[in-house]
Amino acid sequence: MSDQAKARIDELRALLHKWNHEYHVLDKPSVSDFEYDQAMQELIQLEKQNPDYLAEDSPSHRVGGVALDVFEKVEHDTPMLSLGNAFNEEDLRDFDRRVRQGVGEQVAYICELKIDGLAVSLKYEDGLFVRGATRGDGTIGEDITQNLKTIRSIPLRLTKPVSLEVRGEAYMPKRSFEALNEVRYQAEEEPFANPRNAAAGSLRQLDPKLAAKRNLDIFVYGIGNGLNTGVISHSEGLNLLDELGFKTNNERKRCNGIDEVIEFVNGWHEKRPTLGYEIDGIVIKVDSLEQQDELGFTAKSPRWAIAYKFPAEEVVTRLIDIDLNVGRTGVITPTAILEPVRVAGTVVKRASLHNEDLIREKDIKLGDYVVVKKAGDIIPEVVNVLLERRTGDEKEFAMPSHCPECDSELVRIEGEVALRCINPMCPAQIREGLIHFVSRDAMNIEGLGERVISQLFKEKLIHDVADIYRLTKEQLVELERMGEKSATNLIQAIQASKTNSLEKLLFGLGIRHVGAKAAKTLAQQFETIDSLKQASVEELTAINEIGDKMADSVYTYFRSEEVQKLINELKELGVNTTYQGPKKVNVEEIDSYFAGKTIVLTGKLEILTRNEAKEKIELLGGKVSGSVSKNTDLLIAGEAAGSKLDQAKKHGVEIWDEEKLVLELNG
Ligand code: NAD
Repeated sequence: MSDQAKARIDELRALLHKWNHEYHVLDKPSVSDFEYDQAMQELIQLEKQNPDYLAEDSPSHRVGGVALDVFEKVEHDTPMLSLGNAFNEEDLRDFDRRVRQGVGEQVAYICELKIDGLAVSLKYEDGLFVRGATRGDGTIGEDITQNLKTIRSIPLRLTKPVSLEVRGEAYMPKRSFEALNEVRYQAEEEPFANPRNAAAGSLRQLDPKLAAKRNLDIFVYGIGNGLNTGVISHSEGLNLLDELGFKTNNERKRCNGIDEVIEFVNGWHEKRPTLGYEIDGIVIKVDSLEQQDELGFTAKSPRWAIAYKFPAEEVVTRLIDIDLNVGRTGVITPTAILEPVRVAGTVVKRASLHNEDLIREKDIKLGDYVVVKKAGDIIPEVVNVLLERRTGDEKEFAMPSHCPECDSELVRIEGEVALRCINPMCPAQIREGLIHFVSRDAMNIEGLGERVISQLFKEKLIHDVADIYRLTKEQLVELERMGEKSATNLIQAIQASKTNSLEKLLFGLGIRHVGAKAAKTLAQQFETIDSLKQASVEELTAINEIGDKMADSVYTYFRSEEVQKLINELKELGVNTTYQGPKKVNVEEIDSYFAGKTIVLTGKLEILTRNEAKEKIELLGGKVSGSVSKNTDLLIAGEAAGSKLDQAKKHGVEIWDEEKLVLELNG
């Protein structure tokens, strides 16, 4: 096997692990499902071609989520699996071929809409709803009974006193989703990327009252376990669920053969936008339960079902205008103003055009009809112009020669595509810098976002970041849409941000080339802003992660008189300027068993949480890794450790239980 293939497999596994975490645990994806699915397909292909490079914890073998510690854990009676994917007609025909090879020619399928929400399990005893859970990693989910009880279409009592477990998809209707995002927008909270994440986030709230406000709904699509129902097919099972009082989805069809399935699937490409909820595909299941039984399961999904995924949605709309934004660093970004259009779950009104070159490349004119999609970052993008729809009335767009905010002349710095306003007093840059200062990865001041900052700036209540700490409640209540309560909360949030660790302040100051990660490195290394201020370029570049460009920028930044004045003011106002996180360790200097070792944690830990164990090990100079390899030095096996324990034994890795770990950590 080539090193290149190995490296790519490792890279894809790491990426997919990260994306799974963002999607299933944080409910906050950073890439589109399309991009995720493409990476997954590539990994599956590569693993097929290189069967020796096995890893049982590869994302291709596992159901994506993991149960959060804040909820009670629930072990599913039968695993809640994922589904295999099909992306085109050929994939569907392959699936049909495999099924027929398994069970013979006589196969009927049932097609159902693939609701884009969160899979849940609902358990009933003698007709009463006793427990609801998320899928989690397929074996262990989270107990979210109280939150599920707030969904009115989940019957608390069935029409018959039966005991069974059913599965369904909890979802947020489009209308509720838009209303929720509007409220979040008004409150300056980050909107949800799509209804699926909104539903998942709502059901994993600790406070059921919050979940109740989210207007969730459910479609139940199958019986898990626990009932000798007498039904012999999935479609009969769905009818039984209807009779018991569950809400099932009526847009389902029993199909004789794959041709009928394909017809059904194609029909829904167009009908999809007419629904009041999002679907991301069609699920196709073998109808006969006996045949399902014969076909069985892989580790991750049933062999008798497949999910056809719709291609990334592209829509046509009109580009009405091009707006110019001046960013924090003076870069001028053109933004397309679009006739509002719904794409992949949200209404899109704007799309960044990045720079002038892109406008030329795509030949975009004002008034054009354009194709829009949500690109990798879930960010709307103009794909191309529909030249055939041009009428001749479209207008050429030209970038201005002067800054739209301060009218100073724009420059194009050599080697850069962007046009820049280089006036340091440009109000737009100052405003954007203030917005950056309060943002989540910087000082993270809740309730203080783009809208309020812009108002404060316009009213001349703030000019630089120190002014934020001079604001009074009286000033705030005067602002539009700011009540007494919000003003009090905001002042509290501003006060609370004073205690942030140094890296947040450093990132917030917006020093050129210093991102959140570099800010952390600098804070860890220098510990106080005063010692960072005194650092020479040589001292800065001596740090591994700090390159020449960044070192120069940091050095120059702290030489500015204005900056020194600002930092003194922040200190006087009580803003913390020291680092408070774990110290950077120099592995060679640490006298601990863990120093320089690679350690893997597996199974359920009882005394420490995973994060606590990881932090403690890292503090003592160890590295915690997610998978076992020949480089692993030590495996900590908690309760019910599985495949990693087997792998560790195979590689002859030292194995400890949690108690021994705790003793050594404390030792
Ligand atoms: P899946 O979404 O491909 O299919 C399985 C799920 O479909 C089931 O668990 C169930 O919840 C749901 N479903 C909806 N209607 C159904 C019906 N009628 N019958 C049966 N099941 C139905 O698989 P998954 O494991 O839940 O999630 C993987 C998918 O999630 C990926 O393919 C990708 O699209 C998305 N994802 C995206 C990211 C990202 O970062 N964007 C990350 C991880 C996963």
